[in-house]
Amino acid sequence: MAVRFDKVAIIGAGHVGATAAYALMLRGLFTDIVLIDADSARAQAEALDIADANALARPAHVRHGDYAEAGDAAIVVITAGASPQGEESRLSVAGRSAAIVADCARRVAEAGFAGVMIVASNPVDAMAQVAQRASGLPTGQVIGTGTLLDSARFRRRLADRLGVAPVSVEGMVLGEHGDSEVAVFSGVRIGGVALDQLRDGAMLDRAELARETMRAGYAIAHGKGHTSYGVATAIVRLCEAVRRDEQVVLPVSTLAQGACGVAGVYLSLPCVIGALGVARVLAPELDAREADALRRSATILRGIMAELDGQG
Ligand code: NAD
Repeated sequence: MAVRFDKVAIIGAGHVGATAAYALMLRGLFTDIVLIDADSARAQAEALDIADANALARPAHVRHGDYAEAGDAAIVVITAGASPQGEESRLSVAGRSAAIVADCARRVAEAGFAGVMIVASNPVDAMAQVAQRASGLPTGQVIGTGTLLDSARFRRRLADRLGVAPVSVEGMVLGEHGDSEVAVFSGVRIGGVALDQLRDGAMLDRAELARETMRAGYAIAHGKGHTSYGVATAIVRLCEAVRRDEQVVLPVSTLAQGACGVAGVYLSLPCVIGALGVARVLAPELDAREADALRRSATILRGIMAELDGQG
């Protein structure tokens, strides 16, 4: 089936999916935006609301549809899944989400989809791996939003403490999107200057900053019941990188194949993103503690996949 590069399908029209559709519409990257949800009345209502807003933006068709609509899309975004309740960890919803995500990915593949699949459902690393297996797509074409959001949170918090704009902070969080994620302080650069070389940087409470970054999602969900703008913006950024074949480097969840000593599991590493998804995975230099933490994160994720395999 010929791929329509101007078309995106979003599966799951809840908080994340609807916000991503709205942000994608405002960004003007696609002229055809389709919302698919098991609750088709919800998908229809969200699509109508966004379509009305589109009359004041760059023209696009925003509508609800079924899985057949996903077949010729350039990008499918999966946001359907179970949400953590209260303080429930992302990992404990894995089983509930896996059944939903596998079903969505299988139905998208059956529709003839050959584009790039972006997975945001939590726990996102495991869900991206589940979606890749269920869809049968090449691993590079199935990407989890992973720590793209955590990296933005990390950069913003560093920027606030150092009195510079977030865009001027180079820094990444790698590994699991979740409790075992690794904030890579050794790689932080501000105008090419390492953190230790800056007076405020050397004095930073790194453990506290890493914890704040990791807990950011919980803090937001505690106040409003869910998170949406950050992850939706990460989805838009990834869609943009694919749509424009940017070859930009973003920390996203991909199948590790030996980089930084980890393999066989989805987790975030710096990836070169283009029209076919992950074109290349980079292996950044980490200090010994960060490298250890990344391997621990991979072990945790392998454990989740083993549990899911055991359940299935
Ligand atoms: P939500 O409950 O508002 O929306 C989920 C939607 O999925 C609902 O509309 C539901 O009808 C739909 N759905 C359920 N099963 C389906 C199926 N089989 N087929 C099609 N649609 C189905 O939840 P939300 O707040 O939008 O969160 C969605 C997912 O995104 C959750 O897994 C959540 O944990 C995750 N999330 C991820 C990040 C991240 O950074 N990756 C951030 C926030 C939320």
